[in-house]
Amino acid sequence: MQRSYSRGGDNRRGPRSNSGGRRPSNGGGRRGGGGGRPRPSFDPSLFINKNPVDVEEEVYVPVHKFNEFGLHEDIVKNLASQGIESPSPIQDETIPLAIKGRDVIGLAATGTGKTAAFLLPLIQKTLKNKNQMTLILTPTRELALQVEMEFQKFKSPFNLFATTCVGGTSIRPQIKALRRHQHFVIGTPGRIKDLANQGYLRLERVNNVVLDEADRMLDMGFIHDMRDILDQVPKTGRQTLFFSATMTKEAEGLVNDFLVDPVSVSVKKKDAANSIMQDVVPFDPANKFDTLLLLLQKPELSRVIIFCEMKHQAERLSQDLVRQGIKAESIHGNKSHGQRQRSLKNFKGGQARILVATDVAARGIHVDAVSHVINYDLPGTLEDYVHRIGRTGRGELKGQALTFIPNASARGAQSDRSANRGARPDSRSAQPPRRQYSTGRTPMRPVRPTAADESYEHDGPVLVAGAD
Ligand code: AMP
Repeated sequence: MQRSYSRGGDNRRGPRSNSGGRRPSNGGGRRGGGGGRPRPSFDPSLFINKNPVDVEEEVYVPVHKFNEFGLHEDIVKNLASQGIESPSPIQDETIPLAIKGRDVIGLAATGTGKTAAFLLPLIQKTLKNKNQMTLILTPTRELALQVEMEFQKFKSPFNLFATTCVGGTSIRPQIKALRRHQHFVIGTPGRIKDLANQGYLRLERVNNVVLDEADRMLDMGFIHDMRDILDQVPKTGRQTLFFSATMTKEAEGLVNDFLVDPVSVSVKKKDAANSIMQDVVPFDPANKFDTLLLLLQKPELSRVIIFCEMKHQAERLSQDLVRQGIKAESIHGNKSHGQRQRSLKNFKGGQARILVATDVAARGIHVDAVSHVINYDLPGTLEDYVHRIGRTGRGELKGQALTFIPNASARGAQSDRSANRGARPDSRSAQPPRRQYSTGRTPMRPVRPTAADESYEHDGPVLVAGAD
């Protein structure tokens, strides 16, 4: 099995509202759905895009082959045995720089092969000098575990060691693991800082640092932990690789303070916000759950992530669904690490059709073939919205995103849409103009609705029979 990557382009900024800020500014209402803390209100037409563009991604022709990077031949053989034959764009550009020892800023999202882009050169470096120690910081436990899994895949057949140190699980096994020399320590900033402060992790021994999904770590408020950690890693001789989907002011500050003469590499995945069919589901607050149940009767909603605003709401909703005989799991911060992993496994394995999640818990998770994302509660920011809906329509697959909005707002959306009939849906206006893939040769064409889409072809927002 050979997998191929498509060419990316510039991705210096992620999706933002027109104001450039994080909070959408349309009105100051409360979120749709009963109770909870005040949420920003959105122009509901932002959630409608019935004519997603189908971006035909051209297949990327890499400049290098894996055996031209100076990687050990067994690393190359191992990659080939896993069907990884040729480098993805981020790997093609980053690996030669990282092998030369340069600091690198990689602007790339999940799914671009960025993990191998930093792991392969660092594994190679460690093979040459086993005293090397690499620290990889990630925003979430799930991502840390995913990075460790990738490490285990790529380091074979060599005797190299890695351990994952994340919060929400007992610190003792982590302390025990750190007593042995670990070539790679992967973890979330809070737990890494704890272990360093307690003297179990000797940051002065670290030679290489990777900041993975740095923008997410900053979003999650880890800036002080990240700075404290980086301050304790010796600057002389350190190699720092910085990966982020977007480049914010705060991220730039980190880069300026901690990277030395870095080279910037940028790739982009397909533009999720414009390539996913999006619509709204109006609901009467008294019947919100019934509206969801009606929607879930549609067989095409085969693998669904439902987003809730708060942890307890996510838990309650999944339990309510299970009571209705619908196989559902939940993932949120009130669950232990093990429980979250189990839920994810059941969802990925198809034992559960629904995963109810909060924004934070869903960050960085990969699940293939998610048919629908449902925003049962509105997202807090437009960035969250784009991030949520990006869980569907991955790769070649088509996905749909449905956003619950209260009836009154739905009527607003309807009239907005009538006024704009024939024009490009407003979901675009929420985002800055995007450059498509950097070669400028990516053809774009409108997509005709498929049979599955027909159910959403109506005058107004998605109407669920009997929901009104
Ligand atoms: P990432 O973007 O690092 O999360 O990687 C996404 C997935 O792509 C992982 O399962 C990798 O093992 C896989 N992958 C990494 N590099 C390549 C490549 N050059 N070709 C095909 N698949 C890859």
